[in-house]
Amino acid sequence: AKEGGRNQLQFYEAAMHSRITERAMIEAELRHALERDELSLHYQPKVDLRSGAVVGMEALLRWRHPTLGMVSPARFIGVAEETGLIVAIGRWVMRTACFQNQQWQQAGLTPLRVAVNVSARQFRDPGLSREVQAALSDSGLAAHYLELELTESLVMHNVEGAVAVVRELKQMGIALSIDDFGTGYSSLAYLKLFPVDYLKIDQSFVREMLTEPKVAAIVRSVIALGQSLGFKVIAEGVETEAQLAYLRRHQCDEMQGYFFSKPLPAPEFGELLGAERAL
Ligand code: C2E
Ligand code: CA
Ligand code: CA
Ligand code: CA
Repeated sequence: AKEGGRNQLQFYEAAMHSRITERAMIEAELRHALERDELSLHYQPKVDLRSGAVVGMEALLRWRHPTLGMVSPARFIGVAEETGLIVAIGRWVMRTACFQNQQWQQAGLTPLRVAVNVSARQFRDPGLSREVQAALSDSGLAAHYLELELTESLVMHNVEGAVAVVRELKQMGIALSIDDFGTGYSSLAYLKLFPVDYLKIDQSFVREMLTEPKVAAIVRSVIALGQSLGFKVIAEGVETEAQLAYLRRHQCDEMQGYFFSKPLPAPEFGELLGAERAL
């Protein structure tokens, strides 16, 4: 048993060590990702469930490293956040999304809102609203075509501070949504303080709603609650026609997911929009 314990400890230490080296490696490589032009954005359509039309898109960060290949956000967003690199990367994401969206509009495509994910670190940065303003004025994009996605845990962490920032952003005319709704701790009393436009039902609920009656009840309740508080409700991670039908039947406003489209590189997203307009 003693031997087994020692082996287990060694195994654990090796695992810890490889996690640390992985983290250190990601950190070192991420420091150069921006200047080496390894980052890009993919865009996933958001679809209005009543009309079936694409009404928006979410910009999602992609990192192609010359030797590591595609590194998923799950592997590097946390590191970017801990090291503070997310501030520069997040600024790049915001500016790139605004410029790309304005370019599509100038090419004559149906104007859509583009959503950008905002991390806790960026949200706490006092320069955030100034940067949003600069991205809008430099790109020429109208404020209501930019949306910021703030996670539920981010806004519920320090409600008073978050409400003040959200109000300031809202006054600029941009759209705001609460992301991953239902996964964190949310107080309904606080929810009404946030002048946001959308609640995004987390994909874990969508995944289980057709097999777990209680999850279905949660989904229906979030739709009803969100709408009665004046929010639009969007479901993410919709992968099947049956999920789509259920959400439509329960009057969810918008959806996003592989069933309609995976996140696409900008040129392919532009083609999808062009083809849609031709229909
Ligand atoms: P998120 O904001 O919740 O984004 C949704 C994630 O679900 C994306 O993963 C998207 O590709 C994926 N997804 C979309 N439709 C489906 C579907 O039908 N089924 C399944 N299984 N997944 C679907 P992705 O792109 O890997 O991003 C993961 C997370 O990384 C994001 O979760 C977000 O928290 C973070 N992230 C991505 N880009 C950025 C960014 O620019 N800034 C910040 N701060 N975080 C980002
Ligand atoms: Ca998001
Ligand atoms: Ca989400
Ligand atoms: Ca998520």
